[in-house]
Amino acid sequence: MAEWSNWSGRIHAAPHTILAPGSEDEIVQAVRGAADRGLSVRVVGAAHSHSPLVPTDGVLLDLAQLTGVVHADGETLTARLRPGTRIADLGAPLRAQGVALLNQGDIDRQAIAGAVATGTHGTGSALRNLSAGLLGARIVQADGSVQECSAQREPELFEAARLNLGGLGILSELTLRVRPAYRLQEKMWLEPVDAVLDRLDELTGATRHFEFFWMPGSDRAACKSLAETDAEPVYPLAEEGKRRGWSDEVLANHRPDKHSEMEYSIPKEHGADCFRALREMLHRDFPDLAWPLEYRTLAADDVWLSTAYRRETVTLSVHQGVDQDDEPLFRACEAIFRGYAGRPHWGKVHFQSADDLAGLYPRWADWWRVRDHWDPECRFLNPHLQALRPGARG
Ligand SMILES: Cc1cc2nc3c(=O)[nH]c(=O)nc-3n(C[C@H](O)[C@H](O)[C@H](O)COP(=O)(O)OP(=O)(O)OC[C@H]3O[C@@H](n4cnc5c(N)ncnc54)[C@H](O)[C@@H]3O)c2cc1C
Repeated sequence: MAEWSNWSGRIHAAPHTILAPGSEDEIVQAVRGAADRGLSVRVVGAAHSHSPLVPTDGVLLDLAQLTGVVHADGETLTARLRPGTRIADLGAPLRAQGVALLNQGDIDRQAIAGAVATGTHGTGSALRNLSAGLLGARIVQADGSVQECSAQREPELFEAARLNLGGLGILSELTLRVRPAYRLQEKMWLEPVDAVLDRLDELTGATRHFEFFWMPGSDRAACKSLAETDAEPVYPLAEEGKRRGWSDEVLANHRPDKHSEMEYSIPKEHGADCFRALREMLHRDFPDLAWPLEYRTLAADDVWLSTAYRRETVTLSVHQGVDQDDEPLFRACEAIFRGYAGRPHWGKVHFQSADDLAGLYPRWADWWRVRDHWDPECRFLNPHLQALRPGARG
């Protein structure tokens, strides 16, 4: 038995074996070997998920050796990437080819395949999550074969793989849509939170990226915008809030304090109301909460399991320190999110059942149908995903 835990240290596993394949062939061998022994297979990226997506008592594959940009093309605006590449390690080589990721999250520590697998997103009302930018993939299947997929080739496998939760096989290469490299000017300011709520449309429409943080007990929001600029980068980069540089230099932040997190996506039109409901509840029931609420925006997409599937979206995140019991806080917040038809972030804490999720995701049954077709023996499921199967008791 080996030992594994996630970034926050809250999620643990005791896999039968942890392997670190160095090539697609070695992934194939690992999957075949697991099948021979009747073991399940899960894969880990950078272990930054707060939900128990990774734990398995079977074989855990760590793809940290499978890194790098295979090819990036400024004409077709596509990039072929190895799955274990940290987002932080994509900026410079992509920029050398004149391109950049369409968007990225608050940090850049994730492996690109791990980020795509859970619908990781940043902020920007015209910007979609990373899964929506997937154009194709090579996937090691349960029988050890390698299947290429895209919108033209095995389109249903592709649709399910765009946001795959590690349940569709092992992505050994990903092709992503990219855009010409671009620079950003960052700005941070404090503003009364009610004023921010009143002019959300104006603020989210004014720059490529906008978000705000609110600390319970405060009447002000810490607002942050990032606007595209032609101005030259300023090196050394300024402190967070004042940076001007290439997108990959400015989008990522340093978040060293270990926490767990719940995040829900709700329809954009309910964003302000949902925030107000959370604020009221937190003031009443959790007056000592010392972690901020984060408010971001996300464009609608057509990815089957995306939290922004066919709806313009606002994401609201709640955090709790790892030294605290997060369940009372997160259950209270989830009760509010449910009232706004909230969809949980797949990489963060939630308490939804299979039936709940079937009601939130119109293509839930399709995702499972395609998944089961390609992996009938459920080699790529773990207990967390088994519990979410249609028909499973929540
Ligand atoms: C400090 C912090 C900040 C965060 N900020 C954001 C943010 O701004 N926006 C946001 O949306 N999320 C954010 N997250 C959540 C995070 O982006 C997601 O949980 C993401 O999935 C983590 O990527 P990872 O590489 O660590 O994946 P892991 O947690 O290691 O794995 C996630 C899933 O990907 C699967 N997977 C990994 N590699 C492969 C592969 N090659 N083939 C198939 N499946 C694979 C795994 O099996 C698992 O199901 C944050 C998390 C933390 C801890």
